[in-house]
Amino acid sequence: MSRTLPVQKNDFIDVVFEDLTHEGEGVAKVEGYPLFVPNGLPGEKAKIKVVKVNKSYGFGRLIETYEESPFRVDASCPIYKECGGCQLQHLSYEGQLLAKEKQVRDVLTRMGRLENVKVHPVLGMMDPWRYRNKAQVPIGEQEGGLIGGFYQHRTHQIIDMKECLIQQEKNDEAVQKVKEICGRYGVRAYDEGRHKGDLRHVMARYGLVTGEVMIVMVTRSNELPHKQKIVEEIVASIQGVKSVVHNVNSKKTNVIMGDVTRVLWGEEVIYDYIGDIQFAISARSFYQVNPEQTRVLYEKALEYADLSGDEKVIDAYCGIGTISLFLAQKAKEVFGVEIVPEAIEDAKRNAALNGIMNAEFAVGKAEEVIPEWYKKGNNADVLIVDPPRKGCDEALLQTILSMKPAKVVYVSCNPGTLARDLRILEDGGYKTVEVQPVDMFPQTMHCEAVAKIELRESN
Ligand code: SAH
Repeated sequence: MSRTLPVQKNDFIDVVFEDLTHEGEGVAKVEGYPLFVPNGLPGEKAKIKVVKVNKSYGFGRLIETYEESPFRVDASCPIYKECGGCQLQHLSYEGQLLAKEKQVRDVLTRMGRLENVKVHPVLGMMDPWRYRNKAQVPIGEQEGGLIGGFYQHRTHQIIDMKECLIQQEKNDEAVQKVKEICGRYGVRAYDEGRHKGDLRHVMARYGLVTGEVMIVMVTRSNELPHKQKIVEEIVASIQGVKSVVHNVNSKKTNVIMGDVTRVLWGEEVIYDYIGDIQFAISARSFYQVNPEQTRVLYEKALEYADLSGDEKVIDAYCGIGTISLFLAQKAKEVFGVEIVPEAIEDAKRNAALNGIMNAEFAVGKAEEVIPEWYKKGNNADVLIVDPPRKGCDEALLQTILSMKPAKVVYVSCNPGTLARDLRILEDGGYKTVEVQPVDMFPQTMHCEAVAKIELRESN
C-alpha cells in the first residue's frame, strides 16, 4: 500500500509549508499528500525527514529551514516546547491573527461550502500575554519539597513551573505561595500511580476588574493537614485573597475537582465584571478565562443581535448566563437554557445580583427544552447559540429551521462545527451575513468566532 504513496518513511525531502494544523504543526503537501511537521510555518522552505506515513497523511521532522517566514519569532517562554500548552509562540502575534483568520475562512469555504463568506480580520489583544484569569496546577514532589506546574507534553510527568506567560502574574504568585506554604507544613503531594498522598491541585482565580483572588486546594484525603496554619499564612501573604476553599476529590480520575467543597476562609465566591455586569464566581463555576476578550466577543454578539428592546431572545448553551445577562440590557426578555444545574443556579443568582428582571433560566438540553418551548408557542425573535466544541445538536438546528427566528447569532469555539452547522442553516433558508473571529486564546491555536445569520426574505 505504502508503495502508492508519494513519500516513504525515512525519506529526506524539500517542501514548502502551506498551512498550519489545529495543533500548530506546519502542513506541506507532496502530490496532494499532506505531511504534518512540528515547528514549520506557512511560507517556509525546508528540508524534512518523513518519520511516519499513514494512508492519507504522514508526519515529518524539520531538518533544515532554507527560507524563514517573516512572521517567525523566538518563543518568549523558556518551557514552550516541553509544556505544550501554547502552540504558536514561534509565530509573531500579527502572524497568529492572520493564521486564525485564514483558518476560519478556509474551513467555512471548504467544509461549510460558503463561498465568498465575509470573514473579518481577527480582533486581537493589545497585549497578548498574561491574559488567563485561572490557573490550575497539578502538584507533585521532588526531593521532599512540593512542585507544581504542568504535565510534560503527552505524559503525566509533572514539571515544576514558576511562571506561565499567558497567566495573570497574580495567579502565578498565588500558586507559588500556596506550594511553598503547604510544602513547609509537610503536606504530601498526591501520587497518581499509588493513589496516595494529599494535595492534588492548586487553583487560583483572579477577578481582573475587582482584583479579588480565590484559592482552591484539592486533596485526595478528606482533610487538608495543618489547614488552620496554612489558611492563616495564605491570608496573610496573598494580597486580594477573598476566598480560600478546600475541595475533596478522592477518585482515581483526570477530573480536577470532586463533589465536596468547603469554604475554609472568607467568601464562597469572588466577583468580577464583564462590561457593566457583575458575576459571582464559585470554585466550580465555569467562567471565561480571558475576560478582556470576552467583553469584545459579547459586544460583537450584541451588535449582531441588533436589538431594539422589543425582542424575545433565547440563549441556548447559556452557562452561568454571561451572554444572557449582557443581552437582557437591550432585549425585552431573555430565556437561557443550559444542561448543568449549578450553572443555572449561578445564572439566576447573577441576574438577581445585577437587578436584571427580564431574564429566565431553565435546566436541560437545548435540543429538548427549546423544541418544548416551540410546541407551546414560545418563539424567539433572536436565537443565540454558544455550544461546546462539538457544535449544535441536529435536533436544535431543525427546531431553529421550524421556529424561523429572524436572526441567529452563533458563538463558536470550533470553526469546523461552525461550518457544518452554518451549512445546515443555509440549506434551511438562512444566510450567513458575516463572521467575526475574536482571539480569546493568544499563543494557542484555539479560535473563537461569532457569526451573524439572518432568515432569507423569501422564507
Ligand atoms: N455561553 C456561556 C457558556 C458557553 S460554554 C459563556 O459564554 O460563558 C457551552 C455551555 O454549553 C457549557 O456551559 C455546557 O455545560 C453547555 N452544554 C453542553 N451541552 C449542552 C446541551 N446539550 N444543552 C444545553 N447546554 C449544554
